[in-house]
Amino acid sequence: SKDQGGGAHNQYEPKLHVHAEERRVMEIALRKALDNEEFSLNYQPVVSADTGGVMGFEALLRWTNPEFGVVSPAKFIPLAEDARLIVPIGEWVMRTACKEAMNWPSTVKVAVNVSADQLSDPNFLDMVVSALQDSQLPAQRLEIEVTESIFMREGTGATEVLDQIIALGINLSLDDFGTGYSSLGYLRKTRFTTIKVDRSFVQGAAKKVPESLAIIRAVVAMADSLGMSTTAEGAETEEEVKMIQKLGCRKIQGYYFGRPMAPHDALDLFRNFDPD
Ligand code: C2E
Ligand code: CA
Ligand code: CA
Ligand code: CA
Repeated sequence: SKDQGGGAHNQYEPKLHVHAEERRVMEIALRKALDNEEFSLNYQPVVSADTGGVMGFEALLRWTNPEFGVVSPAKFIPLAEDARLIVPIGEWVMRTACKEAMNWPSTVKVAVNVSADQLSDPNFLDMVVSALQDSQLPAQRLEIEVTESIFMREGTGATEVLDQIIALGINLSLDDFGTGYSSLGYLRKTRFTTIKVDRSFVQGAAKKVPESLAIIRAVVAMADSLGMSTTAEGAETEEEVKMIQKLGCRKIQGYYFGRPMAPHDALDLFRNFDPD
């Protein structure tokens, strides 16, 4: 495995061994996590760059385990993918997010992250349709977020699955745009609703890094001519928000407007909301 060091790095082997052992123990715990109801979703607001109004929430998975505490998804999602657990976990995320979104005003969308392994699962589309039917959430209120990595696998038919997602009326976002190694060819084939500009460009733009500014400008112009929207990710400061507004991204997401929060806190944002 890639955790095994070469002979020249003998002094690091014990540490790597502990790392592998921790992974093994964590994987065993992860196998029981669904049954033990250790998962929950946090919701982070996505706001309009013009009005600051909440347009939707991104569902972000949390794992709270008695032994490991709160484990970051950056750590356990790759583990779940390796252990082939991402399909059942992802189904739980999809069904839970659709149900919880039904408590919000009917204009507010919910975005769900979907990994490549889920997309290539033959039951994926049926599962999504079933989640929408069971929750009664209209397809137009669901957004599916994928990263460029799905296009780097050969023969998985990613483009066909994405076309069917769009045909169902579900919104489709391209997440972490600009951080992958993929070509732009797939933008000719897939009509994404939204391109999500990675936080690294947002940070750079606020610091007036010329390359970051040029890239965001180009992405906004490209999205515009392709009929797609843009969301800037990870805005933390007023400077970042102001720069994003100036550059013309339509939606903003980041700690400045709200951290990922428990479902009841997300609901609280609408306490004074009057649907009439
Ligand atoms: P992501 O999809 O790019 O989600 C955005 C991440 O950026 C979240 O981290 C969020 O908490 C964080 N973030 C949001 N605003 C800010 C900000 O202003 N500053 C900073 N520094 N960070 C910000 P989180 O919740 O730790 O999730 C990490 C990644 O785990 C996600 O990145 C996504 O790739 C993956 N993930 C989370 N939930 C799911 C899930 O249900 N399914 C799958 N397949 N992946 C998930
Ligand atoms: Ca995402
Ligand atoms: Ca992202
Ligand atoms: Ca990310």
